[in-house]
Amino acid sequence: MEDRLMVSVSGVRGTIGGTLTPHIACDFGLAFARMLKAGAAGARPTVAVGRDTRRSGDMMFNAVAAGLTAGGVDVIDLGVVTTPGAALATSRLKAQGGVVITASHNPIVYNGIKFLQPNGAGLAAPAAQELKKIWEAGQFDLSAVENVGVQRAETRTHGWHVDAVCEMVDLKTIASRRFKVVVDSINGAGCAVTRLLMEKLCCKLDQINGEPTGQFAHTPEPIRENLDQLCQAVRKHGADVGFAQDPDADRLVVVDENGVFIGEEYTLALATAFALSHRKGKVATNLSTSRMIDDIAAAAGQSVVRTPTGEANVAAAIIKHGCVIGGEGNGGVIDPRVAPVRDSLVGMALILQYMAQTGKKLSELAAMIPHYVMVKTKFPCPAGVAPAVAEALMREFSSRKDAAFNTDDGLRIDLPEAWVNVRASNTEPIMRIMGESKDQAVVDALVAQVRRVADAVIASAD
Ligand code: MG
Repeated sequence: MEDRLMVSVSGVRGTIGGTLTPHIACDFGLAFARMLKAGAAGARPTVAVGRDTRRSGDMMFNAVAAGLTAGGVDVIDLGVVTTPGAALATSRLKAQGGVVITASHNPIVYNGIKFLQPNGAGLAAPAAQELKKIWEAGQFDLSAVENVGVQRAETRTHGWHVDAVCEMVDLKTIASRRFKVVVDSINGAGCAVTRLLMEKLCCKLDQINGEPTGQFAHTPEPIRENLDQLCQAVRKHGADVGFAQDPDADRLVVVDENGVFIGEEYTLALATAFALSHRKGKVATNLSTSRMIDDIAAAAGQSVVRTPTGEANVAAAIIKHGCVIGGEGNGGVIDPRVAPVRDSLVGMALILQYMAQTGKKLSELAAMIPHYVMVKTKFPCPAGVAPAVAEALMREFSSRKDAAFNTDDGLRIDLPEAWVNVRASNTEPIMRIMGESKDQAVVDALVAQVRRVADAVIASAD
């Protein structure tokens, strides 16, 4: 992929020694300061800043903090914390904003800056766009000496985080089982706080890649091909469950007691099944998450709010609709009682309590959820052609009276037997197709049909 700085709703991301320079990081600090001061009516805003374990984290922190303080904002240095920890601390400290320095699941050469609202959720799209505009214009207010921000350190984040997670589960029930748990913390921000959580839950923890060095022991995205070591460790130790986090510990995936990776879609599905087993309320998730969530909600007499892709959209829907739980099919579980962000610790605690309360093995709990086959593929598509592809697809499927169309995020077509989502990438000249059905042949045929329609449109656009 071409090395360019990405500035999107989810923040800034680029390469160290390449596109993400300390100059740019400092300018974003100044831009965020300007934005917060515009809304602060005279009082000096405070921003809580956390970072993951990457070696470039110190450098990036210093650059962002220099911009914030130069712009007249006080900085609270959270040190190395998870993204959900930073979100929780931002809200707990009543800061006017938060910053997390992380490139999430991207390899070590990357780093990034993510901006948070006072409640810990990522910036909503309008605020993210405003921040980008301020940064692009490059006109920052440098504070006079008496108004330059000051910096202090805050070390309580892990403790707050573990306490908040433990408050929403039944500690005694989980502790009584003395679960054997293997966690792959990928040398990231989850290393220390996960140990604290497992201690509280009286789990026998075997943590792999548990040193917070930022030297990721494997490709950090928590997907099947990167988790052989975890699957083997679960078998070797005869563990009840295996968990894998990404470097900023917001995403979580699960390996069952047989050392089988059960798929990232199951993280939210299991957490939702547990949540709805004892609480009533809606669930929010994005348009590309499995129908498992709909089945689980329907069985509990509850409904699902679907949002466009993007964590901030899901978080906003959770708050707006008062959902009991929500998240994303990529292993992101959000429990608003902790913070309106994806949280691997929340996911682990909910799944362990589900196991404890039912007395069932992880594989048995997964087998209780209706199984779907998901197909994800992509194909080249010139910029600007996507709307024509969507129109052609709606014409193609308009004869199906049972088809439902949703254009909130690309095009999603829901049929009784399957669904498909087609959308253009924001960063590359490609389109992504995602489809799901209980039947492999049905989803393969649907994806092929979509591809035929798209190819015809692209050919006629040449
Ligand atoms: Mg992440």
